[in-house]
Amino acid sequence: MKPGAGTDADLVQPPELSVVVPMFDEEAVIGLFVERLRPVLDDLGQAYEVLVVDDGSRDTTPALLEKARRDWEQLRVVRLRANAGHQAALSAGLVRARGAWIATIDADLQDPPETIADMLTAAREQSADVVYGVRNDRTTDSAFKRHTAGVYYRMIRRLVGQHVPADAGDFRLMSRAMVDAVNRLPEQNRVLRLVVPALGFPSAQVEYRREERAAGTTKYPLSRMIRLTVDSLTGFSIAPLRLATWFGLGGAAVTFLLLAFALLAFVTDHTVPGWTSTFVAVAAVGAVQLLCLGLLGEYVGRLYTQLQGRPTYHIAYDSEDDTNR
Ligand code: UDP
Ligand code: MG
Repeated sequence: MKPGAGTDADLVQPPELSVVVPMFDEEAVIGLFVERLRPVLDDLGQAYEVLVVDDGSRDTTPALLEKARRDWEQLRVVRLRANAGHQAALSAGLVRARGAWIATIDADLQDPPETIADMLTAAREQSADVVYGVRNDRTTDSAFKRHTAGVYYRMIRRLVGQHVPADAGDFRLMSRAMVDAVNRLPEQNRVLRLVVPALGFPSAQVEYRREERAAGTTKYPLSRMIRLTVDSLTGFSIAPLRLATWFGLGGAAVTFLLLAFALLAFVTDHTVPGWTSTFVAVAAVGAVQLLCLGLLGEYVGRLYTQLQGRPTYHIAYDSEDDTNR
């Protein structure tokens, strides 16, 4: 057996806490992360596992994780075959985690690991199945990130419901029952920060200060933020489809007016060359139609992927498998 291998006792007894950490190209931050997380978890005085989901990193992340595992036996690494994205990586971690409580946290130390202890206390004191980490101060995020996040949460709360806590990302603690319920959902491309509140389990909140990324750069470029927003909207609301209906109705009303105008011009003998109005009308109708088609396409696409039932991630390796089995 390798050093740091689990004992038989670990096999029988699931740990009290699993900490799920998705990582994608995080070589710059791993050292700092381990240094800060480990004492927090050791001080809890309870059995725990740290389940790092290596989301197909292309840098030295896998090697650094392997090295860290040598002297931290509670560190477990699940590697995905290819980059599957933050949400899919989290889902993979939730399926594999064994703890009675499961915390999810980013690797970049923007979410302070110390808060996990407060979350456990809150969950036990308030008998909550989920404790959301709510950011009370985002001044360390860039102005762009703050504004886009502000718009995102306002829109989501309006469309999906006020039960979605504002400014709660993917830093949270969940009970085994909660995680089992999430794992049973057949939905693919799920946005956990919406799925979890939608299940309606008793919840609590713990505030924390969002810190600056400890090292490295963001793995969430604009394109991924847009993807997350589209998944959030189409996964939780049919409001965009209704928007298509409204556009259609608006378009019909405008067409009706134009028709009246044309008839009036015709009978009063004021027929103008009319290039501009025709052009504008055609362009506007075309745009509205394309927009509505696009909206439909989003939902049809979602149905299609759902029907195909392809997994959103593939596990290549789990360090647990070669130590225990
Ligand atoms: N992440 C991931 N897969 C991806 C993108 C990001 O596992 O495809 C991880 C990343 O390593 C980090 C977390 O998701 O632990 C959040 O990413 P990041 O901090 O870059 O996002 P931001 O805080 O800038 O929104
Ligand atoms: Mg971050």
